[in-house]
Amino acid sequence: MSETLERRAWRFIQTRMRRNGVFDLLSYDDYLLKRSKPTCSYCGYQFAPGEAVMLDHIQPLGRGEHVASNLTRACKSCNSRKARQDVLTFYDATPTFTPQLFGAMLAELAIEYGVSAPDMLEMLEREQAAWQRERTDNRDDKEAT
Ligand SMILES: [Zn+2]
Repeated sequence: MSETLERRAWRFIQTRMRRNGVFDLLSYDDYLLKRSKPTCSYCGYQFAPGEAVMLDHIQPLGRGEHVASNLTRACKSCNSRKARQDVLTFYDATPTFTPQLFGAMLAELAIEYGVSAPDMLEMLEREQAAWQRERTDNRDDKEAT
């Protein structure tokens, strides 16, 4: 993709995020770097030359932010299947998201957060547990009324 097309795609995302009231900290360089590997992080799909490499929010917006550390490459199929699931729940439910691919994504994340991979996994597990608690609490509230 030409520089101009890349920049236009990046600006399109920026505008869409702003319109949805999402606080946006993704720089153009971060955006290019995130897309620099031509494979889907969740299934290993190889994007064809010239095919747009899509980015997915590792933790869905609202829980995670629109920042480089919360973005990874995803093919159309994984992007729509993951939808608003947290990344660990999606990992457990998705056979194509192999331990090897998960490990690679975790290592990438750990570097960006400046922590070890086991610490990164612990952070993700804490997030997942917190969401599950919230969902259970909401269900209890509804049953009580
Ligand atoms: Zn995929």
